[in-house]
Amino acid sequence: MKKITALGLFSGGLDSMLACRVIASQDIRVVALKFITPFFDDHLREKEEQYRKTVKDKYGIDVRIVDLSEGYIELLKNPQHGYGKHFNPCIDCKIFMLCRARKMMAEYNASFLFTGEVLGQRPMSQRRDTLRVIERDSGCEDILLRPLCAKRLPETLPEREGVVDREKLYGFTGRGRGPQIELAASFGITDYPNPAGGCILTDPNLGTRIEKLYRGELSLVSHDFRVSDIRLLLVGRQFSLPYGAWMVLGRNEEENDRIAQLAEEDDWLIEMTDRPGPTGLLRRTAQNTTDKLEELEIIRLAAGLITRYARKIDGKSLPGDVKIDKGTETLTVRGEPLDDELFQGWMM
Ligand code: SF4
Repeated sequence: MKKITALGLFSGGLDSMLACRVIASQDIRVVALKFITPFFDDHLREKEEQYRKTVKDKYGIDVRIVDLSEGYIELLKNPQHGYGKHFNPCIDCKIFMLCRARKMMAEYNASFLFTGEVLGQRPMSQRRDTLRVIERDSGCEDILLRPLCAKRLPETLPEREGVVDREKLYGFTGRGRGPQIELAASFGITDYPNPAGGCILTDPNLGTRIEKLYRGELSLVSHDFRVSDIRLLLVGRQFSLPYGAWMVLGRNEEENDRIAQLAEEDDWLIEMTDRPGPTGLLRRTAQNTTDKLEELEIIRLAAGLITRYARKIDGKSLPGDVKIDKGTETLTVRGEPLDDELFQGWMM
């Protein structure tokens, strides 16, 4: 007989792993969906194969990466259920993910959906009434099972139809982790990530930067920003230069690589050539400048910033050679380090 298939939302945290294993233990084929956006787990975009293999080898879970970026940046403009403590629209976020999962059911011939939510674990998004709102607004009433706390919730369709044995589900509640850790041990899972989430929208600094973008307080990227702008906005030091120029500087090698990787056709990449320094990127400079003089001034300031943050010599920021790659042409200029007072007001 053909196996029943279920799709699970997979954050990568312990609860979502356990939910997958609990469902799979009932001889159900589980496909775990790992949703990504620029705000969470974006780094997995280029590593799907590797990630799938790690999760399969380590936890026996078949995971797929699903990029939600395009719709998600729209969702953030006006989430129906508002924001959490920072700029995190947790309830709408879950609804959005479940809507997508529901739409994917036909593709996988899935009979139901499930999540690793635990009743009462989070103050807002995992309250009993909120769980019901999430089901209702995602169109998942009756087909959404929460195996870790199912015994405290009404029966769902897969339970009533006998596809899932309710007796083998759990009734976890609250913030304690003890029962989950015990259950994990019974599956031989001892090595798992900490519950602390990696969602940038809950981060006081980066979340605020994104909030400013959405509130139109970052004029240089406010009107028609794209997913790629958000990715860039979340890296390194950010500067709003005169003439509407947007400049980003890496603070370490990892950020330098990320900036180079995020560079698009019209971006200008800037690097020191005579000593180590940050990678810089200017976005939409050509569109924002009205004449050659403005462009030259931006180049002067960008080169000045790069040299300011380049490796110091005898404790001092000294002039240096800076290469500017405009895509169509490359030029080298002499950068004169800018005074900190000059650019403090440009930092975003
Ligand atoms: S913390 Fe972030 S990823 Fe998690 S539900 Fe909230 S908005 Fe979504």
